[in-house]
Amino acid sequence: MTISVYGHTYARVFTYTENGVHNEFSVPGGADLLCRLLRLPFGLPAETGAYRREYAELKHYDDRQGKKDYYAIARRMGFTDGMTQARVANEAPGLIVWDEGFGGLDFPPVQGPVLWASNKALPDRALFDRVAKNCVLFLDADVLAAPRMRTLILIAGLHKDARYKVCWSGLAEQQGNSALLAQAADHYRRTGEQWTRRLSVTDVRVKHLPDMRLVAEAPEVAETLVDTAPTDRPILAAAAATQARVVVTDNVADFGRLDLQRLGMSAVTADMFMAFNLTPGMYVDALTRMLEGRVGPPYSVAEAHQSLSRTRPVLTSKMRDLFPDTELEPAAKTVGPQFRGTVCIVCGRTLTDPISQTVGVGPACRTGQH
Ligand SMILES: [Zn+2]
Repeated sequence: MTISVYGHTYARVFTYTENGVHNEFSVPGGADLLCRLLRLPFGLPAETGAYRREYAELKHYDDRQGKKDYYAIARRMGFTDGMTQARVANEAPGLIVWDEGFGGLDFPPVQGPVLWASNKALPDRALFDRVAKNCVLFLDADVLAAPRMRTLILIAGLHKDARYKVCWSGLAEQQGNSALLAQAADHYRRTGEQWTRRLSVTDVRVKHLPDMRLVAEAPEVAETLVDTAPTDRPILAAAAATQARVVVTDNVADFGRLDLQRLGMSAVTADMFMAFNLTPGMYVDALTRMLEGRVGPPYSVAEAHQSLSRTRPVLTSKMRDLFPDTELEPAAKTVGPQFRGTVCIVCGRTLTDPISQTVGVGPACRTGQH
């Protein structure tokens, strides 16, 4: 085993009432859960009772249309204080730090790569710096405003195998924030339900990428662009000025061929970008982390994979061997090109042969051999 786990652990206590009978069961949470998911034989004794316990009430739902019934958390009922410190689960050099934001983590010396996993607290800067790599990726506002994809790209980017580093400009952030507000208003109109747990793009940056500086706008570059849509010129210009080679956007068609060629850049959909930049390990890790702390479906990594397949068919079909029992959903129709540009979306090198220029990935990077 080449990985060890350190961080916070706790127990989750679920209760439900059926036919007048009160039922209760307990499952591990935090680092302990991660150990079990990774099949590390070092499960931490969360069930001893000395650990912090979080209580939730489950409710039975019957989805007639989907022909399935399931339990979901209906009510969170607070916690009982207790120990949260997990020990190092292994002596291997690769370390996953699981931070629930409870504080008091005290790190052992680390030799290998570190993945700091937290959606509740700021990562430790010294450790975070170790996982940062070359900046070749720039996120457009539409991707920033798609919370699931954004989380996936950001989390996977912190993985030890990641070859990209994420950045975006103030303008992309503003546009992403506005798009999220519009989505929330629309959701409220349709359902009467307020989203309270959703993070804005700014929240995400402050929380997950505290050291990332917003990329400066570059109006002098924007002025030189000729065939990019006027609304996307500032985005492409800022990316070019910070020497990002790849813009991830769901409007590839808005980025002009001549402009991309002159700047030596590429525009690519989030789906294609992820399909070629994520290893199976990065994909599973990122989905696992995305699910942590979620209320409501999807409940398992396989379900998350399945539900992604409707909107991200390239990524999910590339990863389908990981979940042989999961049937992918038919993909929604995509409009417009998936890729346009002159450099490889994995390594940033200039594409030279016609196949690579069509796909957006050079021969070496196409095989997935990093
Ligand atoms: Zn390449």
